[in-house]
Amino acid sequence: MRGFVFSDREDILAQVLTFFRQKMEVDGAVYADNVGISSDFGAKKLYLLQGTSFSDNVSEALLEIFEKEKYDFIFITSTALGREVAGIISDRMGKEIIAEIFDFNLVDSRVRTKRFAWGGKTVTEEESDCTLFTVMPGVVEATKAQEKSEVVQVKMKDSRVSLVQSIPKTSSTVDLEHANVIVSIGRGIGKKESIDLIMPLVKAVKGELAGSRPVCLDYQWLSEDRQVGLSGRKVKPKLYIALGISGQIQHIAGMRGSKAVIAINRDKAAPIFEEADYGIVGDLFQIVPALVNALQR
Ligand SMILES: Cc1cc2nc3c(=O)[nH]c(=O)nc-3n(C[C@H](O)[C@H](O)[C@H](O)COP(=O)(O)OP(=O)(O)OC[C@H]3O[C@@H](n4cnc5c(N)ncnc54)[C@H](O)[C@@H]3O)c2cc1C
Repeated sequence: MRGFVFSDREDILAQVLTFFRQKMEVDGAVYADNVGISSDFGAKKLYLLQGTSFSDNVSEALLEIFEKEKYDFIFITSTALGREVAGIISDRMGKEIIAEIFDFNLVDSRVRTKRFAWGGKTVTEEESDCTLFTVMPGVVEATKAQEKSEVVQVKMKDSRVSLVQSIPKTSSTVDLEHANVIVSIGRGIGKKESIDLIMPLVKAVKGELAGSRPVCLDYQWLSEDRQVGLSGRKVKPKLYIALGISGQIQHIAGMRGSKAVIAINRDKAAPIFEEADYGIVGDLFQIVPALVNALQR
């Protein structure tokens, strides 16, 4: 079996190559200016795409590779550009696509994949003959392979799009990586309006507000740059306060470096308590105002 992984982000390429190299022989592709570490993660051949990249010329470059090389499976990482490229490739190759998978197994020559459904509340497991997928970032932590990749330079054609102006995102000003105190909210807060109840605590501890993946990505109660976890930010504050977060491994991967952890959860069996130095079992809507009161006194 041979697979191919494309990502415009080197860190995500490294994760996804780590995952698939255990299952099949893989080649990879990434932008040439991302060459720093990409050749360490187990792609047999690593294509470095040179030139200004937009979805049209990246797709053309990948389609040319697919004409020369035969792959059983194509995996494109689910970034903004990756999703556009995947759509173009699906159309041009006439292939169906399964989007946003986070697990992949071959069972009796069929493919079994998992992805989230219903806003992240359930997992759908599908069996298919599909050969084209987008893959969620953070599928596993990247680890180096023993062998380095053979590097192949690819000069991309010019895009039909030209860049007129580049405006940095205003939301990316949050510096979670250097915050001393982080108050992190999970699905347990129930609705966006509950953030008003959390903000007095954030102010009282002079912290930054962060969240789990459902909060930042699925429901967008917070901006995506506040997501902590395997596919979000890796933080190491002196104090991490987890409110209504269950503590799944993908979340823990982002906050494991915290010096002290306080967890508030109404489920005493929630895995977050295994990471916590101080755990409070109870309703956060009662505990948070009481904590703020105590801190203000
Ligand atoms: C490839 C991949 C990458 C991922 N990357 C990330 C990532 O980077 N970051 C991330 O966070 N997740 C990530 N996830 C998702 C992760 O697996 C979990 O689904 C997610 O972390 C769960 O978020 P949560 O704890 O907010 O929600 P839930 O798991 O639904 O937990 C909510 C918690 O709130 C508690 N609760 C409810 N009401 C109250 C109340 N009133 N008071 C107190 N407690 C209450 C509940 O007991 C429960 O424990 C990833 C998943 C995959 C497959």
